[in-house]
Amino acid sequence: MTDSEAHKDDELVFLDEHESGPAIEAPRKSWRVLIVDDDPDVHSTTELALRNTLILNRPLSFLHAYSASQTRELLANEGDIAVILLDVVMENEDAGLRLVKNIREDFGMSETRIILRTGQPGYAPEIDAIRDYDINDYKTKSELTRNKLYTTLTAAIRSFDQIRAITTSRRGLDLIVHASAELMALHGMRNFAAGVITQIAGLLGLRPEGLVCAQDAMDEESPESGPTIIAAAGRHTALINQPLSSIADATLREGLLRCMRERQNIYDEAGTLLFFPSQASARGDMAAFLETDDRLDETDRRLLEVFCANIAVGFDNAALFSRLHAFAYYDQLSRLPNRTHFINQIDRRLANPDHAGFVLGLVDIDHFAETNDALGHLFGDRLLQEVATRLKQSLGSQVTVARVAGDTFGLLGPAERMSPSILIALFQEPFRVDGQDLMVSATCGLLNLADSNTSGAEALKDTNIALKRAKQRSRGEVSFFTRAMGIEIQERVMLLQALRHAFDNERLFLVYQPQVDLATRRVVGLEALIRWRAENGAFIAPDRFIPLAEHSGLIVNIGEWVLRVACHQQAWLARMGFGHVRMAINVSVSQFRHPKFPFVLRRAIEDSGADPACIELEITESMAMEEADFLLLTLNKLKENGITVAVDDFGTGFSSLSYLQRLSVDRLKIDRAFVNEITDSQRGSQIPEMVIQLGHRLGLSIIAEGVEDAAQAQRLQELGCHEAQGYHFARPMEIGPLLEWLQNR
Ligand code: C2E
Ligand code: CA
Ligand code: CA
Repeated sequence: MTDSEAHKDDELVFLDEHESGPAIEAPRKSWRVLIVDDDPDVHSTTELALRNTLILNRPLSFLHAYSASQTRELLANEGDIAVILLDVVMENEDAGLRLVKNIREDFGMSETRIILRTGQPGYAPEIDAIRDYDINDYKTKSELTRNKLYTTLTAAIRSFDQIRAITTSRRGLDLIVHASAELMALHGMRNFAAGVITQIAGLLGLRPEGLVCAQDAMDEESPESGPTIIAAAGRHTALINQPLSSIADATLREGLLRCMRERQNIYDEAGTLLFFPSQASARGDMAAFLETDDRLDETDRRLLEVFCANIAVGFDNAALFSRLHAFAYYDQLSRLPNRTHFINQIDRRLANPDHAGFVLGLVDIDHFAETNDALGHLFGDRLLQEVATRLKQSLGSQVTVARVAGDTFGLLGPAERMSPSILIALFQEPFRVDGQDLMVSATCGLLNLADSNTSGAEALKDTNIALKRAKQRSRGEVSFFTRAMGIEIQERVMLLQALRHAFDNERLFLVYQPQVDLATRRVVGLEALIRWRAENGAFIAPDRFIPLAEHSGLIVNIGEWVLRVACHQQAWLARMGFGHVRMAINVSVSQFRHPKFPFVLRRAIEDSGADPACIELEITESMAMEEADFLLLTLNKLKENGITVAVDDFGTGFSSLSYLQRLSVDRLKIDRAFVNEITDSQRGSQIPEMVIQLGHRLGLSIIAEGVEDAAQAQRLQELGCHEAQGYHFARPMEIGPLLEWLQNR
């Protein structure tokens, strides 16, 4: 019989006893003695002789059999027999001896002590039986006087008791070794704790009724939260996840608290309380309660002590694993699942056939970075915690809430619980942080899982597209992911691939748009503008592909190429007699930020032999607004080459006067949008007027772009604008036609 079978048997015995109640409680406490003899007199005299006798403090109870076959029948149904007083000669000469073989081998009763009683001693088969079949005593019937019988039985019962204790503890130790191995394999505190209940129940042959509570080692910030029930079995199951303090059963509650306080095992009438100290963390201790009817006997207690000591290591393992798990899968600030965990949860949901009714959401707090900067990171953290709490509480248990990035929360739940109106309502009330009420808005991207049969990671990506789209439209919006969005992203990816290909295959080229002096109408400069002619001959507008190139970093290489070509053309035009004409070159943000950019510029000028005084860089106003120190440094370094700098798209940003003064720029370029608005009315020319006045005050030159008609040119000139560029004067041209154009003027 294997250990686990033995353990099952124990359980069965236990169940039977439990159900039939205390009626057969008595025989359990007495020593059961089986008298086997074909002479009824022997039965009655033996019983009479031993009546009211206590052996090792317990009474005796008797079972009777009058033949070998009857004994076999009886043994098939009865167990827990301490001693068998066995007659040798019954149905036949050696019926008793053959019965010994049955008892030991067929019934597997190795613990029961057998005392042979025989008429004639020294009979050879009896000697063999004693040798071969573990017979514990051998007495002639005449020898067994009352006293002799008593001492013989006492010796037999004592050895039965010892053997049984040893067997029990050996089996227990086997179980412990087995249990430890099994518990080691269980990761996580909850699994471990549940395992402890089952293993102990198995060890003691009890029904797994019990519970385990633990001080949450993870919860270092709120020690006042107290122990919680982390595992429970049987009728205690409903208590899982409850704080210990909320448990109604006072014996249970106080018992567990006492056990944790005293840090030791307690064996009580009410049950057994085991303490598992954690070495890994001061607060990770665990206590278990098991229902045990009676006080446990010594053997069981010793087994439990061994068990507790033995699994302490496993417990620390589990505690450590739990913490690692928490670190790997939970956000420490909000205690919500993190991105990795959330993706797993989406994967699991997608694998479930009912996922079509579910919605995936991303909630992004608007202007969180600004709040964080303005009110401090601690405040920002608290705000995030408040948002996390509201999301969890308002959306309810059916919606999974996760924190997937700094100020972005992930939601996964049934569609009806996550409608746009529900989500918008979440942010209608202010959040209370540090005693302050703060209105916070959020933007949401949503995805119907029905529209996604890929992976969790992909679904999250699509939801992010919807979020970005919602942000582009306006903050505080909710936007559902649509197929069109997916297609658009795909198109962008394809366009980027095509752009790489075009760049490598020299399908990009530059055109040049003249810039004129408004007073003299002489050409003073050119702006280099990039063009892409696709394989099919169609032009792709730079407004479409430049942002893509920026985004992918390809702009660094493209930008360097533009710089070099434009410098070469400036040098070439100088040789053709247009040495005074400036060459304005657009520089994008990532190009400008690249640490090698000043070096790239210098090399382009040197290699081409261009006149640095005729090279102008156009940076956008939005660029001019960021990172003042960095910008100042870079601009100064660039200007060491003798070049000039213009601020493009001026008027669209919010540059401050003093800031512009610190920046060593030479020219402001009034954005096309404002030039467009210039009419005869005063209102339309307000901004150009302001920009021009500003420029004058700062001693900067002003150029207007996108001048399309004479009226605009006229008005700009009246306002004091120095230079202009636009279709009214000339369209951008390739270098050949440009030279012709210049020569014809
Ligand atoms: P931008 O720097 O503001 O360039 C001026 C844009 O206005 C050019 O468009 C030009 O063709 C257009 N334009 C000129 N005159 C008129 C006019 O009278 N009316 C109208 N409606 N438009 C006019 P383009 O060439 O399509 O370039 C668009 C944008 O692409 C540029 O805006 C610039 O931001 C970017 N870009 C172009 N070439 C380069 C380049 O080589 N490098 C970088 N980084 N960006 C470039
Ligand atoms: Ca420009
Ligand atoms: Ca512009």
